[in-house]
Amino acid sequence: MKDQLSWLRRRKRGIKEAKKREMPDGLWRKCEGCSEIIYHKELERNLWTCSKCNYHFRISAAQYRDVLTDDGSFVELLTGIESVDPLGFVDSKKYADRLVAAKKKTGHNSAVLTGSARVGGHLAMMAILDFAFLGGSMGSVMGEKIARLTRMAIEERVPLITLSSTGGARMQEGILSLMQMAKTSAMLAKLDDEGLLHVAIQAHPTTGGVTASFASLGDVIVAEPGALIGFAGPRVIQQTIKQDLPDGFQRAEFLLDHGMIDMVVHRKELKNAVVKVIDFFTDDRRGTAEDTLGQARKQGL
Ligand SMILES: [Zn+2]
Repeated sequence: MKDQLSWLRRRKRGIKEAKKREMPDGLWRKCEGCSEIIYHKELERNLWTCSKCNYHFRISAAQYRDVLTDDGSFVELLTGIESVDPLGFVDSKKYADRLVAAKKKTGHNSAVLTGSARVGGHLAMMAILDFAFLGGSMGSVMGEKIARLTRMAIEERVPLITLSSTGGARMQEGILSLMQMAKTSAMLAKLDDEGLLHVAIQAHPTTGGVTASFASLGDVIVAEPGALIGFAGPRVIQQTIKQDLPDGFQRAEFLLDHGMIDMVVHRKELKNAVVKVIDFFTDDRRGTAEDTLGQARKQGL
């Protein structure tokens, strides 16, 4: 009897394990573009893009870091700057509670990951926004980190790479968040005066105060396919002008056709594209010698 029971238990366990093997959590993912069910490993191999319809899944700042940088070269900088709640802001929840939840969810202190890295051998400063942290919104901390990182790019005489994925300014910080548009733009103007390169990458979505400041101030602006890029969203514009908007309005491809951005690049080609841009504008692969962007401009390149 005892033997029979243990056989039964084994059998039950066997059935459970078999079920587990068939349907483990997170092994498959449904494409939000074409509804195709995609094997997770395949998705990872394709850098979280759909091989059928080209849909680009939203990824974290850490994943973009891995997509863009040479293995193990990223050194995180400016980690000690944290958001405060200057207005004691409360909407449906307290801003202070939202910050705690966002930190817990993402494991980061802010909505932007900043650091130095090598990209195809070039040393560069890199700021990557994380949409998972309060919609990648720009408050005082993001503005400060990007301004300081830009200053470091000037001091080190290396290119700056920004990657945006954001809903815009952080309304919970009121006017202080809007001031970050001026702060980051002013620092980028200095970078420009120094003849240094800023490559701005726009992922889905890049909107609001970030589009209206540093995300649009790249010497070269690269967007991911299908990314929504704009200041106000299409619904707001449609309701304001009371006219139908053209197909594909505010999508990366539309903006490329209308001269607002320079390239639309598949995520699998993103790093290559950035390396080519840096190669073109600098001739020193260590990124420490004289900047050549100014020279390239003088030569009319
Ligand atoms: Zn798809």
